[in-house]
Amino acid sequence: MTISEMQEEIIRIKKEKDICILAHAYQNHEILEVADYVGDSYGLAVNASKDSKKTVLMCGVRFMAETCKIISPEKNVILVSSEAGCPMAEQLDTDFLAAIKEDYPDYTTVCYINTTAELKTQCDVCVTSSAALKIVSQLENDKILFIPDPNLGNWIEKQLPEKTFAFYKRGGCPTHFRLTADEVKKAKEAHPDALVLVHPECRPEVVELADFVGSTTGIMNYAKKSDKKEFIIGTENSIVSHLQYDCPDKLFFALSKDCVCHNMRLITLGDVYTAVKGLTGEEITLSDEVITGAKRCIDKMLELGG
Ligand code: SF4
Repeated sequence: MTISEMQEEIIRIKKEKDICILAHAYQNHEILEVADYVGDSYGLAVNASKDSKKTVLMCGVRFMAETCKIISPEKNVILVSSEAGCPMAEQLDTDFLAAIKEDYPDYTTVCYINTTAELKTQCDVCVTSSAALKIVSQLENDKILFIPDPNLGNWIEKQLPEKTFAFYKRGGCPTHFRLTADEVKKAKEAHPDALVLVHPECRPEVVELADFVGSTTGIMNYAKKSDKKEFIIGTENSIVSHLQYDCPDKLFFALSKDCVCHNMRLITLGDVYTAVKGLTGEEITLSDEVITGAKRCIDKMLELGG
């Protein structure tokens, strides 16, 4: 079977079985081509909730499938690969968070959407990288415990000097953490006309050297709308390739060849094929208690972030 034959089969089966395929933007291009929706985690969950299909197949990592289930508990949500977790989302459990919160009893606990459903039940509000600033700025409490990513937290803190922040300092995304300021300097030397676009999950010294800092969607929109022709991309390297497809008249360079999320890249077109046939994949189940608790945290995000 060729790639295009497998893609045609996936599309045929998903229509026959009334399956909605979601693909996070960090998936390979051949997977994006068979998806009903492509985007970042929260956008995917919202699109799935508005879609009439009863089964949702998540080509992404576990917390993204959980977010779909929280928003659409009536749907069957299938994670294509049960091994696709997110090291950042899973680095804190509820006991660990409870211990951290003991040190900050009068702080509002804000979690990144990249957390487990269970952890969200113990937080006051969650944020996406694109809406983080807007949401945190509206919180009445000026003391913020931000988990699990201190880099995203640092980026928000710099823009909200009126608030006091506490972080779990050992947290963060191992993929974005690999990018260094030296690599930014070398990439700029190699491509002096290029703008540097990075994700706020990068270290502060990398963010400091960037021309634009934003979510994956923010980076893609910026590059597409910009009059500039060359860009150095400081987020998962799949975005370099997607942008090259979207903007063939521009040039995109990876900030580092190491900015690869091995969990996201676990998923192959073959996995999507076997999952859509019902042979593989894991159905996400969450207790009513977890769904209710995590939804409260997400609803607060919607109330403040729109
Ligand atoms: S890129 Fe980072 S935050 Fe995203 S799934 Fe991979 S490890 Fe998790």
